[in-house]
Amino acid sequence: MSCIFCKIANKEIPSDCVYETENIIAFRDLNPQAPVHILIVPKIHIASMNDINSENSAVISEIFETVNKIAEQEDIKDSGYRVISNCGEDGCQSVQHLHFHLVGGRKLSETLS
Ligand code: AMP
Ligand code: ZN
Repeated sequence: MSCIFCKIANKEIPSDCVYETENIIAFRDLNPQAPVHILIVPKIHIASMNDINSENSAVISEIFETVNKIAEQEDIKDSGYRVISNCGEDGCQSVQHLHFHLVGGRKLSETLS
């Protein structure tokens, strides 16, 4: 498969990995929008939020159980952060493999758009 995040999960291309388990990988975004900008990704290919279901949602639970661990590791747990997943065209999703942006290390905009 030519999916770039599958290739990162399979170590076919390098990433600046900050956390990894059998099921998930988290690595620094190539084009950071804040001092801390990490992508948390299921290793299995799930295309987007639209493809989460009862068969694959255990890995989504694992991702959300992991957010505060990575936030602590990155020293943003107390200052705060935002978790974002862009879906589809209007959501401006550019990589078609589900991922959650963990963004922090500065005061973020009050608007979500
Ligand atoms: P999205 O627009 O929500 O699909 O986010 C995709 C994100 O992936 C963008 O913030 C890109 O900067 C980031 N990205 C794309 N390729 C890589 C890569 N090889 N390593 C790290 N981040 C990447
Ligand atoms: Zn993929």
